[in-house]
Amino acid sequence: MPAPRHNPFKTAQAHVDRACRRLNMPEAVRLLLRRPMREHRATIPLRMDDGSTRVLQAYRVQYNNARGPAKGGIRWHPNENLDTVRALACWMTWKTAVVDLPLGGGKGGVTCNPKELSITERERLARAYMRAFAPLLSIDRDVPAPDVNTTPQVMAWMLDEYETVVGEHHPGVITGKPLPLGGSLGREDATSFGGMCVIREVEDVLGLNLLEARFAIQGFGNVGGGVARLLHEQGLRVIAISAEDGAIYNERGIDIPAALAYYDGNGRCITGFTGGDPFTNEQLLACPCEVLIPAALEHVLTRQNAAAVQAQVICELANGPTTPGADKILEERGIVVVPDILANSGGVTVSYFEQVQNCYNYYWSRGDVHAQLKQRMTQAFRALWRLAKERRLSLREAAYLLAVERVADACRIRGWV
Ligand code: NAD
Repeated sequence: MPAPRHNPFKTAQAHVDRACRRLNMPEAVRLLLRRPMREHRATIPLRMDDGSTRVLQAYRVQYNNARGPAKGGIRWHPNENLDTVRALACWMTWKTAVVDLPLGGGKGGVTCNPKELSITERERLARAYMRAFAPLLSIDRDVPAPDVNTTPQVMAWMLDEYETVVGEHHPGVITGKPLPLGGSLGREDATSFGGMCVIREVEDVLGLNLLEARFAIQGFGNVGGGVARLLHEQGLRVIAISAEDGAIYNERGIDIPAALAYYDGNGRCITGFTGGDPFTNEQLLACPCEVLIPAALEHVLTRQNAAAVQAQVICELANGPTTPGADKILEERGIVVVPDILANSGGVTVSYFEQVQNCYNYYWSRGDVHAQLKQRMTQAFRALWRLAKERRLSLREAAYLLAVERVADACRIRGWV
């Protein structure tokens, strides 16, 4: 997959502009909502194991906090830059509003290739990031979480550094933590579980027979691997999977537990797995299937390849996988796209549950977490489906309408606009 050619922040702004126009929002509201309220950069010197120093760029964007403290993950990726972080922070703002969480939107990132870092270098990077941004973070201000290439272990190092800086326990300052440090049961597969709830709702409204459906999943990490496992556990057929290094196709259905074991044991690579034929990421997006799940990075469905998609439903578990040009083509072709700001909101929803548990220092069972998550996802999907039908909108347009209206309302009540 080539590096994204589109600027994801421009995509994010285009959605905001369109929703503001539809809602007849005053110009001041549009101008406020299409830019981050605050953005921060840091230059981080990272001491390498060989004694040399690398100097890395790091970011934290607090997009909008009208409905609550900023909330959003930290991504470590070579293509990370201020615009990708702005886009992701913008999407977090609408995501928390769509599922009606009392939170705003934020995001962080470091431009780096974590595959080139040893475990001790990763720990130093996690701690340095936290030292750089700790004064901006708190449970009432801004709460990070994991995202691409950051893990519960990275969250643990960051929490430890934060608590060392402030000299007190503050488990709620970061979510996606390991359980012994105040993590929540059900957080590790929350995004995938939330995605499954949405897929089940789509099954109902479209009358799909999932038992006969073929699923293709791009990305085999936390989210893509997680949803593959859940689909497999429910007896459903995943025919194509992929990671950064390549893809695998098997019309009869891939043995997902074996593929996950292979991926974990092979440096997060899928090439060489013998449970299917070698395939490419481009072939995966265009393969014959009923449900396509992009779960890797942004802007993989473009004007160039949207006409080749054969799925009936696209469930966006990645953030921003579809460019506006592709969106138009998919809509014209009658393909139902469940937008990222709803489809992958399971992660932030359980992050919110984690904060709640940290606040009253009382922890829920996995069953409680899943039941609450299912209820939120189902309610949000049904509200969007209704709105989309009433107003003859795509699910994405309906999601933006609902979210932008909620955030604008909070800004107005505060007297900002
Ligand atoms: P991850 O790092 O665990 O996994 C990413 C996967 O994508 C890996 O399998 C990687 O090999 C693959 N990948 C990377 N570049 C690729 C490329 N060029 N082509 C094909 N595959 C590629 O990350 P994750 O946490 O699973 O996140 C995946 C997506 O889901 C991201 O867009 C992220 O922002 C979004 N998301 C994650 C969460 C969460 O809770 N982790 C929540 C909401 C949204």
